[in-house]
Amino acid sequence: MKFDVIVIGTGQAGVPLAVRLAEAGRHVVIAERKALGGTCVNYGCTPTKTMVASAQTAHVARTGARLGVRGGRVKVDLAAVVDRKDRIVRRWRDSVRKRLREAPHLTLVRGHARFVGPRQVEIAGERYEAGIVVVNVGARPAVPPLPGLDGVPWLDNTRIMELRRLPAHLVVLGGGYIGCEFAQMFRRFGARVTLVDRAAHLLSTEEPQASAALEGAFRDEGIRLVMKTTVRSVSGGARSIALRLDGGQRVTGSHLLVAVGRRPNTDDLGAEAAGIRLDAKGYIEVDERYRTSAEGVYAVGDCTPGPQFTHAAWDDHRILFDLLQGRGTRTRNDRLIPITAFTDPQVARIGLTERDARARGHAPEVATREFGAIARAIETDRTAGTMKILLDPKTEKVLGASIVGAEAGELIHIFAPVMVAGVSARALVDAEYVHPTFAEGVQSLVMSLPRYKID
Ligand SMILES: Cc1cc2nc3c(=O)[nH]c(=O)nc-3n(C[C@H](O)[C@H](O)[C@H](O)COP(=O)(O)OP(=O)(O)OC[C@H]3O[C@@H](n4cnc5c(N)ncnc54)[C@H](O)[C@@H]3O)c2cc1C
Repeated sequence: MKFDVIVIGTGQAGVPLAVRLAEAGRHVVIAERKALGGTCVNYGCTPTKTMVASAQTAHVARTGARLGVRGGRVKVDLAAVVDRKDRIVRRWRDSVRKRLREAPHLTLVRGHARFVGPRQVEIAGERYEAGIVVVNVGARPAVPPLPGLDGVPWLDNTRIMELRRLPAHLVVLGGGYIGCEFAQMFRRFGARVTLVDRAAHLLSTEEPQASAALEGAFRDEGIRLVMKTTVRSVSGGARSIALRLDGGQRVTGSHLLVAVGRRPNTDDLGAEAAGIRLDAKGYIEVDERYRTSAEGVYAVGDCTPGPQFTHAAWDDHRILFDLLQGRGTRTRNDRLIPITAFTDPQVARIGLTERDARARGHAPEVATREFGAIARAIETDRTAGTMKILLDPKTEKVLGASIVGAEAGELIHIFAPVMVAGVSARALVDAEYVHPTFAEGVQSLVMSLPRYKID
């Protein structure tokens, strides 16, 4: 069957791209082998942040006495938490289905898609051909080659969100943002939690101050951190799982979550049949305009190298849409991708870390400030965290900012328009901020830079 465009995968880039191309008059077929909406809707952002909200509520209820509010003993009903999560996920999935159903010239085909030749794809036994093919196949949890792992019932991000009874002791392998979010979530649900990582620090690619602030908060909540160690083997069964670490140390728990990274869904895509080049880790190589090595084939989202976030995949769709419509000026290389770990305190960053800035030859002016100095933080008892800004002394442009604190994922956006517009950080100083807000703390951070200090 001939179409104008084939989209493989209904992820955060594929759905809006397919719908908008169809609305623009192209005949589009989109393939999906699992749940509509991909990782974000079904196994990523939506379910985790829904469950993080339940965990946050348990924490606030438990710590209310600090603000003079006493309740009874807090009990988390994990089955009810999971049911609520499932309802919210279903709502989003249904809205994806409706969007795809209502778009003109758009055909949804359920099944695994595999290239069988240049711009030729087989889906559920049928062959499809198109002038343009967009690959949006996403990624899945990486499974480390750990002796013994096969023999234990370990959990990934999907399976852990299906548990309806609280683990007695959850061991989390991996201190990236996924591991950190689940570790704190389950601690707040009431489980004992031990987190193990070979890096020296949580979120090890972030600012050292950010990692330290998060580690302090985790330890305060009773999460045990076993850092800078390598797991040698795993053993156990349904009731107890043991990790043998470097030097013979053992960590034992009732459940094991493995969150050590992601790998692209490209191994069963038939990439070679289409002439699509993959890098050493299996990611699809693309240029700044999302072109793969195969003519007419583009790739977007988590299956390409780069930061793996929903907002990045969604932005991919709008850049590629404009390029395909012959009107684009932006490319995937000239953009800023902010990040947030939805822990408490949240950890957010935009632009460079100090380490990366120096590695690129910058000599930034740096200011840091404790989140606990913000009036709003004191009033609301959310003082954990720290902030940091890097400024290019010649241009006064912000090179990067990092915030650990309450609503850091919201606050980090204060920097985004200024950085995208390429204007001086003076704009952040001259703007007026409502008192008392967390945002005025960000202004105080900028005003801690020597050049903006007032006497
Ligand atoms: C636990 C967790 C929490 C996360 N939290 C956040 C967060 O808070 N914020 C954030 O920005 N990001 C978060 N992410 C990352 C985010 O979910 C992804 O970056 C985003 O979903 C990527 O979208 P995508 O369009 O690249 O692909 P995906 O959403 O992964 O979609 C790819 C789709 O392609 C389908 N597919 C694959 N191969 C084929 C094939 N051969 N044929 C047919 N269909 C195929 C898959 O079934 C899938 O539905 C989280 C991820 C995880 C795992």
